[in-house]
Amino acid sequence: MDTNPVAAAGGPDAAASRPVPVAAPARKSVLHDMEQTRLAIEMIRLGARLQVLEAEVSLPRERLTRLYKELCGASPPKGMLPFSTDWFMSWRPNAHASMLLGAYCFMVRAGLLDGIRATLAGFRMYREHLSTTGEAAQLSFTRAWMLVRFYERGMLQLARCQCCRGEFVVCAHHARQRYTCGLCLPPARAGTGRKSGRPGA
Ligand SMILES: [Zn+2]
Repeated sequence: MDTNPVAAAGGPDAAASRPVPVAAPARKSVLHDMEQTRLAIEMIRLGARLQVLEAEVSLPRERLTRLYKELCGASPPKGMLPFSTDWFMSWRPNAHASMLLGAYCFMVRAGLLDGIRATLAGFRMYREHLSTTGEAAQLSFTRAWMLVRFYERGMLQLARCQCCRGEFVVCAHHARQRYTCGLCLPPARAGTGRKSGRPGA
């Protein structure tokens, strides 16, 4: 206890009279632990995969796995996360991805949130919007999280459609001039095989 290098540097008197502050970091870590547990619960309830939890929550993997099992009644699924940006380019997923990324950017700009907080809030907004239209969600929380990652890393961007002025997800290398979105210029086969032909409307 008397070997604290900071206290020793302050002089022998300071080291002798001042107690070493050990309580403060411990208290902070308990609060931090609670906060992280709450975050993990929130994410698991929205369907986050274990890899997503590990990337965002600073709790040991065993704790996260146990939390997951308790909340979902099953072990977390194994396997890789969906790593491809291509999925977001097909017609219906692109409409949903654009909606979600728009909500995420809104949360960053207007909600002053960042990182996982903005992703969570954006995902809730996306789901609320779908519940009013009655359309099935195309994006799971994990997919939404991947989308935000691709966007933050510059692999995907938002481009403004010259017809409807809406913003849509495009690949970073995609020409952004005179962009027309998939809703204004749907491909011939869009909407076939599904009951609704107007996603994200
Ligand atoms: Zn458009």
